[in-house]
Amino acid sequence: MEKAYFFDMDGVLFDSMPHHAVAWEEVMKAHNLSFTARDCYINEGRTGESIIREAILKERHREATPDEVEQIYGEKSARFHVLADQVGGTVVIDGVADVLRYVQSQGHQIWVVTGSGMRTLIDNLNTALPPVFHPDRMITAFDVTKGKPDPEPYLKAWERSGLPKEQCVVIENAPLGIRSGKAAGLTVYAVNTGILTREDLAQADQVFDSMAELLTFLQTH
Ligand code: MG
Repeated sequence: MEKAYFFDMDGVLFDSMPHHAVAWEEVMKAHNLSFTARDCYINEGRTGESIIREAILKERHREATPDEVEQIYGEKSARFHVLADQVGGTVVIDGVADVLRYVQSQGHQIWVVTGSGMRTLIDNLNTALPPVFHPDRMITAFDVTKGKPDPEPYLKAWERSGLPKEQCVVIENAPLGIRSGKAAGLTVYAVNTGILTREDLAQADQVFDSMAELLTFLQTH
């Protein structure tokens, strides 16, 4: 039976989260705002603007100014790119290439469903990973009005897949992404590729500690 697999990008295909965490932590600290690596992983999927607004509201008890948001987000993006460049650009998640090859060998649809609008990463998918991605099967920041944890990104992928919901599976690494997939009424498999605990990901239908574990599960179910 044909299935559609909806892969999240950051933390599922690309190992970009450690750089996001370091960049956020450093830049927030420079602005006297406390924000830990764990905060970064828990908030993965939210926009930079909403992360900055919440931090300023929490610690300074006032709304952030547009200048503050622009300044902090600009510094964070610049720092992220420096860190990513240091390791030669894109690093892929350990074992995910094998998962992609297996899913393709079974004749299933492969989709990317990401809140990211980073062209450098999106354009790199087919060179950094096995060439299994098709431009028509990508839902990015440019395709939705509401990002995760809203169900819109995964609902859009499901509609375009043409398959019943029972034949669609979301692969996620982040709590807000899991919420988005579940709110869309889909089966969600979580792979813990970062620093969160299994409990943080417990809303998923299955939680795996590695891509190798997910692959074994897919091969036997
Ligand atoms: Mg992710």
